[in-house]
Amino acid sequence: MASLIAGVLRERAPGERRVALIPESVTRLKSAGVDVVVEAGAGAAAWFTDADYTAAGAEVVGAEELFRRADVVLCVGPPEAEEAAPLREGQTLIGLLDPLQHPALVGELAGRGVTVVSLDLLPRTLSRAQSMDALTSQANVAGYKAVLLAADSYDRYFPMLTTAAGTSKPAALLVLGAGVAGLQAIATARRLGAIVSGYDVRPAAQGEIESLGARYLKMEGIGTAAGEGGYARQLTEDETQALLRALEDHIARSDVVITTARVPGRRPPLLVTAAALERMRPGSVVVDMAASELGGNVELSEPDKTTVLDNGVTLIGAANLPSVMATAASTAYARNISALLTHLLRDGQLHIDTDDEIQAGVVVAHGGSVVNPAVGGVK
Ligand code: NAD
Repeated sequence: MASLIAGVLRERAPGERRVALIPESVTRLKSAGVDVVVEAGAGAAAWFTDADYTAAGAEVVGAEELFRRADVVLCVGPPEAEEAAPLREGQTLIGLLDPLQHPALVGELAGRGVTVVSLDLLPRTLSRAQSMDALTSQANVAGYKAVLLAADSYDRYFPMLTTAAGTSKPAALLVLGAGVAGLQAIATARRLGAIVSGYDVRPAAQGEIESLGARYLKMEGIGTAAGEGGYARQLTEDETQALLRALEDHIARSDVVITTARVPGRRPPLLVTAAALERMRPGSVVVDMAASELGGNVELSEPDKTTVLDNGVTLIGAANLPSVMATAASTAYARNISALLTHLLRDGQLHIDTDDEIQAGVVVAHGGSVVNPAVGGVK
């Protein structure tokens, strides 16, 4: 039987530097019986050359040939409709496709008989799925990079530093939202010597924040808000207002604030108001990792835009930090997508079986229709 062919697309979204497979993963997939074709230039922005892919055993091809030959097309972010147009019945698209935000793309591909598999719907708490957890691997990169960006924009030291010229005070850094990215940000900021506090609405976060040596902010009179599957639930309007009031003093006292809060399927919760920003000292830095077209955790933040406010606070709308550290992010993502692809293989071919718990999560469309109830499909 002919080997399965996986095709690696060159990402076309503005500012996206990641690539779905790196040369090392090409070699691994080949030993699992998967041949790889890579679109020319796919890895260039993450510093993987076409020659690296060829040396690893892949074939470098143009986009047209890729779509013609690949059984499975691998990508990072969701392709535009035009880019996905050559996908045809029987082919499979795998990526971080954000299907809840892109129902039209999913519907269109499903209607054409394309199988759609999205890593963002992985059941992350299953231990056998952890090697495939791209949300976690990318959030780790983002949390780390957010701290470096903040440190770079902050015109003082993070650590307490004693020199002949005197002693500098350590930076007070606050992390709001302590999931994967937030905890990585806390750990990184601690390594740089900042005095770190953290807050999250999930009760489990307290122990995790404290285990990293940071202070957990107790919000008097604010309840916890654990939702399903380890995620937070959306706060009510009253809870939001109470939280915003409670956070304001803490924000005003901080030199650096990093926000990471998200609620699946909802717009990111507002945590830092314009009034809170106004109370911060000149030279302070705020990094909003939830900045998006839908709004972020910080009022006034805009995705991929850095603004110095009138009071001297630098506000960084950090929309796609994994892409900023494209080599590390692509390396981790390639391992995640290879692990998923290998999981889907049976006798050298893709075997879609939504009775498998992992596949029930990630398979969005198959056999001509949307099959994932989370995306509006009926299994
Ligand atoms: P996420 O990206 O969905 O959200 C980031 C954080 O924002 C979360 O911790 C969330 O609780 C918090 N948040 C939401 N609303 C908030 C608000 N109003 N105020 C403050 N914080 C708010 O989260 P994530 O990083 O994807 O992690 C989600 C959960 O999944 C966590 O419980 C994490 O431990 C868990 N997880 C488990 C595994 C595993 O079991 N292998 C792997 C990854 C993540």
